[in-house]
Amino acid sequence: MAGFVDFFSDTKTRPGAAMRAVMAAAEVGDERAGEDPSVNRLVERCAALLGKPAALYLPSGTMCNEIALAVHCRPGDEVICDVTSHLIGFEGGGPAALAGVMLTAIAGDRGRFDAAQLRAVLRPDRPYAPRQRLLEVEQTANLGGGTIWPLAQLDEVAAAARAHGLATHMDGARLFNAAVASGVSVARYAEHYDSVWIDFSKGLGAPGGAVLAGPADFIHEATRLKLRWGGAMRQSGIIAAACDYALDHHVERLAEDHANAQALARGIAAIDGLGIDLAAVQTNLVYFDVLRPDLDAPRLSAALLHRGVRVSEMGPRTLRAVTHLDVDAAAVELALQALRETLAQH
Ligand SMILES: *Cc1c(COP(=O)(O)O)cnc(C)c1O
Repeated sequence: MAGFVDFFSDTKTRPGAAMRAVMAAAEVGDERAGEDPSVNRLVERCAALLGKPAALYLPSGTMCNEIALAVHCRPGDEVICDVTSHLIGFEGGGPAALAGVMLTAIAGDRGRFDAAQLRAVLRPDRPYAPRQRLLEVEQTANLGGGTIWPLAQLDEVAAAARAHGLATHMDGARLFNAAVASGVSVARYAEHYDSVWIDFSKGLGAPGGAVLAGPADFIHEATRLKLRWGGAMRQSGIIAAACDYALDHHVERLAEDHANAQALARGIAAIDGLGIDLAAVQTNLVYFDVLRPDLDAPRLSAALLHRGVRVSEMGPRTLRAVTHLDVDAAAVELALQALRETLAQH
């Protein structure tokens, strides 16, 4: 669509010509049987990158989370996460339906909580209470605003969890965004987390795929669940080749997405009738609020769409615009122009 810019999500990227070329040329085999060389190379590369002994290729980040819960926990166990976490509202009830776990939500600061907040929900092991088993964090915190957990805070909550006998799991759907923005490596962020995964279909711009990493025995059991739940594929090296390409070419450039997000956020801050917390814009997600009483999120998003700009509705008065590979500085200008015009007209 001419003049259409899509800020709905960083999942909207489409593979470009160079990525498609490596996909077309990918060496492939039967992944389910461990015979796809492109997949095998990718998981080895990711295990090393994440500083974990083993890794597993999966179709999606959701499957990484759900398998991790099921391997770390037994039915009836308790998982502790932030109240904004993806596990709670975006995985179809998977934690209850698949792993059979209970979720205890901490009301953190934009998706992040500290060790004191974690300790406040930890309790002695009593026969009438669910067994507390797993700490889960998101780096970056999606519904927190794409916010970055400071390294020390991640280490501290992991230490508090371990001291209480909990396992630790990191949802790294946008871990590379955090790494590029902060200069801390993905392995260092994940160092004190037993399991961690990265998504290739978000800012990295591949058509699909995610890699879950952890200890060898954890990955062994995770592989069983991958097969049980039908997550094993066949010649998926075609997708893995795109993921490998993304690691080579689409990591450092996330800095451009962050710069575009900053420009968008500053522009939004200057528009009367919109509200934004600039301190919360740390990576590629820009959450902002409609303050004008005569407008709300659905009406503003419809008006923007009419002007060729798509954003997503995150609440009655909250919208989210995500920068990614397929939106550039000119697209940001277009979005700001559409916002200014819409608010001027109303
Ligand atoms: C997108 C996302 C997921 C799920 O990943 P999919 O690959 O879309 O299944 C999980 N956690 C967070 C924080 C996400 O943003």
